[in-house]
Amino acid sequence: MESILVLTHADESGSALTRHSLEAVTAGEELAARLGASLTIGIVAADGNRAASAVKHAASRLLAVRGEAFAQARFASDAAACEAICRAAQATIVVAPQSSRFARVMAAVAHRIGGVIDTHIAALATHITAIDGADSVEATRWFYRQRIEAVVTRTARPWFLLLDSGTHVPYAGETANAQADEIAIAVELPALRTEVTGFRAPKQDEQTIRPDAKLLFVAGAGWTKKQPDGAVRVEEAGKLILNFLRASGASLGSSKSLVDQGGEGNSVLPFLTHLNQVGQTGATPRHAKGLATCCHGEEPHVVGWRFIGERRAISLDANCGWTRGKADVVYIADAFQVMAKLNELLNGGKQWAANSSHRKD
Ligand SMILES: Cc1cc2nc3c(=O)[nH]c(=O)nc-3n(C[C@H](O)[C@H](O)[C@H](O)COP(=O)(O)OP(=O)(O)OC[C@H]3O[C@@H](n4cnc5c(N)ncnc54)[C@H](O)[C@@H]3O)c2cc1C
Repeated sequence: MESILVLTHADESGSALTRHSLEAVTAGEELAARLGASLTIGIVAADGNRAASAVKHAASRLLAVRGEAFAQARFASDAAACEAICRAAQATIVVAPQSSRFARVMAAVAHRIGGVIDTHIAALATHITAIDGADSVEATRWFYRQRIEAVVTRTARPWFLLLDSGTHVPYAGETANAQADEIAIAVELPALRTEVTGFRAPKQDEQTIRPDAKLLFVAGAGWTKKQPDGAVRVEEAGKLILNFLRASGASLGSSKSLVDQGGEGNSVLPFLTHLNQVGQTGATPRHAKGLATCCHGEEPHVVGWRFIGERRAISLDANCGWTRGKADVVYIADAFQVMAKLNELLNGGKQWAANSSHRKD
């Protein structure tokens, strides 16, 4: 008989669970219901009261490690915390978010307790085996840049499964009063050599990669190419794109050709890095909608759009890859004009071009 443990951790507030952790709770709850298994939820947080109250209804048992040592992401304390929860829960299947905080400790935790681990899990299912009629657990993940979908089953236990973000709806059950003190377990911490003294992060409006955004806006190399009027308008392109990102809250992706230009001494958009690259050799983000601009829609790029719900593209080329079945809607139009109009609408009719020397049509 399987038993499920979902490991979760707090966000930067130190008390509320991350969205990704809540997605793992949904996955664990669904799996436990299908298997008729018990569900334990483990919480790593400086102060776990709020987190425990948020998920109390989902679990048959709650466990928490708490204290200042767990306010920050640090290998030694996080690995010790997860190990202690796993030993207390004695679960056969451990589901956890593949967040940067947990991804770096979970292989070590699985090793310490003699388990096995699979990462980048997108879905969990159960399957009745022909041999003994018992339910077996199946985990789905993608290989070869999301081209091959594999279904993994294992007999070894405990089996750790790290879930990709955006694959499940975050758990949002009714809250119930829960005191972390009552569910707290002791953790023996090793010597802690690392201390997080602060965070240095770009201001929110300078962050162009926003995994939680509904829309992915992709810029292609066309933005930097000679335009039909004979001019190269990179500065104007940069302003149009940044204005749109600020007004819409969209996440910024790029084609490889565009980000590669930085290395070739060409004039490029300074806010783009290889982290923005979408595709075979880039990222495969998950957003409800995507808008590609000045991009040709070639296969090595479009394969990164695998998990984008609705795809639209703006290209001057009526024969581009998008028009050949790779997008739901293609606007054969000049992206400079379309984005200027879009920015104007988003800014309540004000000309985006107030600080630009180019056209207002
Ligand atoms: C092994 C391998 C891995 C790769 N991995 C990736 C990857 O991960 N990601 C990736 O992106 N690529 C990848 N590529 C490269 C990929 O094949 C393409 O070369 C690349 O995606 C092309 O980028 P682009 O569409 O931005 O540029 P281009 O092909 O130069 O297309 C620019 C487009 O912009 C249009 N345009 C120009 N001006 C305007 C305007 N004013 N309005 C509207 N449209 C306009 C043009 O008509 C043109 O269609 C890979 C290639 C290989 C071989």
